[in-house]
Amino acid sequence: MKQLTISFIIPSYNEAANLQHCHKAIYDEMNKLFYDYEILFIDDGSIDRSMEIIQGLSFDFPEVKYVSFTRNFGKEAAILAGLQHATGDAVIMMDADLQHPASMIAQLIKGFEEGYDQVVAKRNRQGDARLKTLLATTYYRFVNKTIDVELKDGEGDFRLLSRKAVDALLLLSEGNRFSKGLYSWIGLEQKTISYENVVREQGKSKFTFPKLLNYGIDGIVSFNTKPLRFCFYMGALTVILSLFYIAFSFIQITQQGITVPGYFTTITAVLLLGGIQLICLGIIGEYIGRIYNETKKRPHYLVRRSNVQPGLEEEESY
Ligand code: UDP
Ligand code: MG
Repeated sequence: MKQLTISFIIPSYNEAANLQHCHKAIYDEMNKLFYDYEILFIDDGSIDRSMEIIQGLSFDFPEVKYVSFTRNFGKEAAILAGLQHATGDAVIMMDADLQHPASMIAQLIKGFEEGYDQVVAKRNRQGDARLKTLLATTYYRFVNKTIDVELKDGEGDFRLLSRKAVDALLLLSEGNRFSKGLYSWIGLEQKTISYENVVREQGKSKFTFPKLLNYGIDGIVSFNTKPLRFCFYMGALTVILSLFYIAFSFIQITQQGITVPGYFTTITAVLLLGGIQLICLGIIGEYIGRIYNETKKRPHYLVRRSNVQPGLEEEESY
């Protein structure tokens, strides 16, 4: 029987301090298990010594592969590059910062052998800042009411995907990728296993608050056009309230005559309407921006250096 091959995809951006540990953790774990494997580092335009370390590893260990981008294209692009270049029967996506414990690998593969197409390692939020946890929980509650696919807190990119799931994800060619939603969109049999949250030891998280906020908005507008419907309802509600107010003012005028003062009502109407219009324009703009980006059909990333052939999608090297 053919031995299963597992591809590890490691998106990494300025993780020089973690790369060797990350490789060792996977290497040690895979030595206990009997599978063929490759470790695919996606260097997302790091400006530290990352590439030097990755190339060093690839000289010493034939299973180490890499794709290095010409600049920082973001984690979503790195994940996509990983999926396109991975050759395994299943892929396991892990962060380079050791926050995704290698000790889970055996359980992930076990789930795959049981026949699941997605085996998800779910983390709790132990050790996270309290405010971050609160914002995240509120966000997930809100977003799951808004969008068509289900997003679960703690279920992120740390997961195993079967070849079938990888191929399904590669069919989705949108420019603005929101992987958390895409995993859910493709469906397929899923198993979830839990692990204790690990706090990052070396370096800082690349996801600052503004980045997380933008990521959150991506999550909402990537999956349907309900926010546009929300604009319509908000407009309709404003019109209904205005009609009531006009009727009320009209009756008042017929009974008391025209009284000039009205600064408060005028300024309230101007500010409120102005605000509602700006929100709606913003939401519409968000979708138009996406259409604009999609029509440009730019590649998701450009490769500077690599020691593997891409599986899909043409790309140029610089
Ligand atoms: N990462 C990346 N490109 C980016 C930002 C992050 O490839 O533009 C990688 C990063 O090196 C790490 C993983 O994505 O391996 C998760 O990033 P990070 O640990 O900063 O995020 P957090 O764990 O705080 O969500
Ligand atoms: Mg991290």
